[in-house]
Amino acid sequence: MKKIQMVDLATQYQKIKKEIDEAVISVMESTQFIGGERIKSFKEHLENYLQVKHVIPCANGTDALQIAFMALELEPGDEVIVPAFTYVATAEVIALLRLKPVMVDVQMDDFNMSTHQIKNAITSKTKAIVPVHLFGQVADMETIMDIAVQHQLYVVEDNAQAIGADYFYMDGRKQKAGTIGHIGCTSFFPSKNLGCYGDGGAIFTQDDEISQKITMIANHGQSKQYYHDVVGVNSRLDAMQAAILDIKLRHLDEYATARRQAADYYDQNLSAHPNIVIPYRNKHSTHVFHQYTLRITNGKRDALKEYLTLKGIPCGIYYPLPLYEQKAFIPFLDKSVNNLPVTEQLCKEVISLPMHTELNPELQNYIVQEILHFMS
Ligand SMILES: *Cc1c(COP(=O)(O)O)cnc(C)c1O
Repeated sequence: MKKIQMVDLATQYQKIKKEIDEAVISVMESTQFIGGERIKSFKEHLENYLQVKHVIPCANGTDALQIAFMALELEPGDEVIVPAFTYVATAEVIALLRLKPVMVDVQMDDFNMSTHQIKNAITSKTKAIVPVHLFGQVADMETIMDIAVQHQLYVVEDNAQAIGADYFYMDGRKQKAGTIGHIGCTSFFPSKNLGCYGDGGAIFTQDDEISQKITMIANHGQSKQYYHDVVGVNSRLDAMQAAILDIKLRHLDEYATARRQAADYYDQNLSAHPNIVIPYRNKHSTHVFHQYTLRITNGKRDALKEYLTLKGIPCGIYYPLPLYEQKAFIPFLDKSVNNLPVTEQLCKEVISLPMHTELNPELQNYIVQEILHFMS
């Protein structure tokens, strides 16, 4: 049996090696490393795939979020509602821009932001909501957009983990995750569902004016060459990454199917155990399984992780601490935010199993048997 990895990028590369190698060499031969046709082509293909009016590529997912917030031109001290159970980048850029991250609890079932908690957190200073489509499943966007309209708030989707997922409205219409809010942000970090071979990210919007602003901010606030209208940043996707992403985008749906099949296998073999809670699949979206995350409810999560590591099975704890317990965020907190019960419980119970496009029943059977053996 081959070595089990959390994410197997090597095998995935071998299957598309010819296309990727040709694309990379052609970028090198062209010496068009920054900007140019490769960027334009990927941008257009992604716009078409997502059915979104504008895709603005940038250097990474964290930059995407930062640039999105710069474009909204909020005032220092304005409040932005974020889930407490997420990756640090979501709240980091808000703090960096001197806005105030207001952390709310998530739901026990799909780990996404609770719309009830969003409503409770709104004050006269609230300006935006950042739903994070955690682990590959879309938050309750219809309710979130209703709340946003009612309170005149912006919605910035952190779609770093759910690219390609479909969201279903109550009337049956569907739309791609990341294209529903005013702005959507994603990351092409290698281990993400659409990952490049380095760093990359992108911003999505249906709004022409926001798109123009974002394009300008990502390029030194430049309106035409050497004319800088606003203070911006330097954040771009390079041509090599765009060429690689253009190829991988063609495989994205097939990759999601492979992840879903792997998730089904885990589900079938783990769901019967009384102390294992398999991932909930909400009704309003497809799950693209960026992570396959269990809850271990008998207090043995850490012991299970140790046991699996010993057996050569990598696993991850996403995330071990609520955002408000991270030292960096202590200065931003009100005293009232120190105990969000669902987030606290999830930080103690979650464990993510190997999840990628190259799993097979042999590997998964070994993983499942070891988990059941330990938990018996
Ligand atoms: C990965 C990730 C990011 C940041 O992406 P980078 O490209 O690493 O900067 C932001 N938010 C979430 C939820 C992520 O998973």
